[in-house]
Amino acid sequence: MSLIVQKFGGTSVANTERIKNVAARVAQYHARGDGVVVVVSAMSGVTDGLIKMAKEIMPLPNEREMDVLLATGEQTTMALTAISLHALGIPAVSLTGAQAGIVTDGVHTKAKIQNITPKKIRELLAQRAVVIVAGFQGQTDDGQVTTLGRGGSDLTAIALAAALKADLCQIYTDVDGVYTADPRIVPQARKLPEISYDEMLELASLGAKVMQSRSVEFAKKFGVVFEVRSSLNDNPGTIVKEETRNMEDVVVRGVSLDKNQAKLTLVAVPDKPGVAARVFKALGDANLNVDMIVQNISHGSDVPVTDFSFTVDKPDLLKAQKVIDGLKADVGFGRVIATENIGKLSIVGVGMKSHTGVAGKMFDTLAREGVNIDMISTSEIKISVVVELAKAESAMKAVHAAFIG
Ligand code: ASP
Ligand code: MG
Repeated sequence: MSLIVQKFGGTSVANTERIKNVAARVAQYHARGDGVVVVVSAMSGVTDGLIKMAKEIMPLPNEREMDVLLATGEQTTMALTAISLHALGIPAVSLTGAQAGIVTDGVHTKAKIQNITPKKIRELLAQRAVVIVAGFQGQTDDGQVTTLGRGGSDLTAIALAAALKADLCQIYTDVDGVYTADPRIVPQARKLPEISYDEMLELASLGAKVMQSRSVEFAKKFGVVFEVRSSLNDNPGTIVKEETRNMEDVVVRGVSLDKNQAKLTLVAVPDKPGVAARVFKALGDANLNVDMIVQNISHGSDVPVTDFSFTVDKPDLLKAQKVIDGLKADVGFGRVIATENIGKLSIVGVGMKSHTGVAGKMFDTLAREGVNIDMISTSEIKISVVVELAKAESAMKAVHAAFIG
């Protein structure tokens, strides 16, 4: 007998039909003799709907009350899931985050899990009941309801798997697993049998969102191996785990495209100490997340000047422009060029650590496609380039074909 944590996301529990399907799947594992802990999200659209209602009343509702409100979404699902199991004749008990022993800090709407005491869960498992836990929520030391930030049910599942030392953690969603690229853009994309935590984190932060990044970080920290798979079929999914030696045989695990960035260029910035610090500190103070930064070599005859280019999240472009305009008189640069027409194309793979010529091959592929590279940044397991948005998808297909096939 093994202990399994199964998490079902919003689309997997979108209506009572789907919840009954979830119960049928859980029943199979229960029948095998496994101990099953099920973590559920709110039915799809419910959390958004609750937020919308609160904001109809006032734009910035009190965060403690938001947590009380949002926690109801998962509670609806957990009870309906328990009832669906009862309908199949299977003992099941639903627990709120607090009842499950999940203790968090007091930062409402984005609380962090501090500890888990799964005593109640263990008791129920010992009685052969399926335990359903509401995802995304916990309780402070003094009994306040908290939520863990959007997408937080993933975190509940991973953290429970760690606390219970589960043999298996399955994250059920509406895709078959993690792909080598977004199949909507690259039809040749393949489902990966396995991926390392670091690769998964890079791909998620690059826009290939399958799971909340915080949960993957948590899984990495506590060594929780998990599987991402679909609740709509029985196909095996993608195993996410610590990197193993043979993972390095594959140079590029995945290709991703982030169309959600914009680029700003400051032309003719005085090239002297402290200028970059002023510009980027001002952006940081305004809570703007700067991603890639490129500085030109010095030019200009009497006073040396340089150019800075950097990217920010697209929705932040106007705010960033405002901050930059505010610095103009003081720092004394020339023009500012802003564009939203960029895409950030990245290749990710732990194999890059031990293979050479990867950047050359990527740039050569882009050159053959007639794609101009605007900016470049690299890490140990990633190479990213900024290209013109109109050519980004064809660039992605070409790079995928060159490295993955
Ligand atoms: N229901 C929450 C949300 O929509 C948590 C989750 O689904 O993971 O963000
Ligand atoms: Mg969700």
